[in-house]
Amino acid sequence: MPDSRSALRADCGRCAALCCVLPAFSRSADFAVDKPAGTPCPHLRADARCGIHARLVPSGFPGCVAFDCFGAGQRAVQVVFGQRPGGPPAPADLLTEAPDLPGVLAALRGLHEVLWHLTEAQSLLLPGPLRDEVAALRERVEQLARTGREELAAVDVGEQRRAAGPLLEHASRALRAEVPGRTARHRGADLSGRRWRGARLRGADLRGALLLGADLRGADLRRADLLGADLRGADVRGADLTGALFVTTAQLDAARGDASTRLPEGPLPVWR
Ligand code: SF4
Repeated sequence: MPDSRSALRADCGRCAALCCVLPAFSRSADFAVDKPAGTPCPHLRADARCGIHARLVPSGFPGCVAFDCFGAGQRAVQVVFGQRPGGPPAPADLLTEAPDLPGVLAALRGLHEVLWHLTEAQSLLLPGPLRDEVAALRERVEQLARTGREELAAVDVGEQRRAAGPLLEHASRALRAEVPGRTARHRGADLSGRRWRGARLRGADLRGALLLGADLRGADLRRADLLGADLRGADVRGADLTGALFVTTAQLDAARGDASTRLPEGPLPVWR
């Protein structure tokens, strides 16, 4: 399903470094510096590119690797600055010209994340009432994302998430029911550091599970539901994630994979 979600992938070349300017950073394991909201990161170059892109993790910025705007950045730039002659202003002037930009970006990011999952569910479900419901909600959310900056500032993203939640739950059950045999249930479990090398986790419910640093080398994660699972530092080399459900690029970026990892359709981690 790569093409159906192409607009929901970050395209930094069509953005204006919004994620390097708008948020505040606190010095932590994710960010090596303190940075107030609305000021450019010290590593942001004049051409609006990251000066340490190839060495973010060793430089102390794994938080940047793990962040995914779901394509909201380029859309926010189009919505807010689409008619501006010469394109967006310099990073330092973004907020001066558009103080509503953080709100627009936050709304679009939330809507795009919902769209990411609904698009996947719609593409995988068989024709029927559930797929029709998913498609209808997806169209509504897409319409909201297509509105102007004033409308976006008033959008209740939580309402859209609440509407999508039960549909994604039903979709997960229906899709995992196609997996033969019993499937494991570890929803929300703390599985940090778990040694699951070569484990059979096909069709497992791993929603919201903490898999920090877990050894998942060679594990069978086909059609496992990984919505919101924390994969930071999990070793997925040789793992099979074909058809794994509701996986995002940011989740995989935070994991350790390589060319031997089999990926679901859609996410494109940096290590591939
Ligand atoms: S380190 Fe690079 S990617 Fe992260 S905020 Fe700074 S410029 Fe942006």
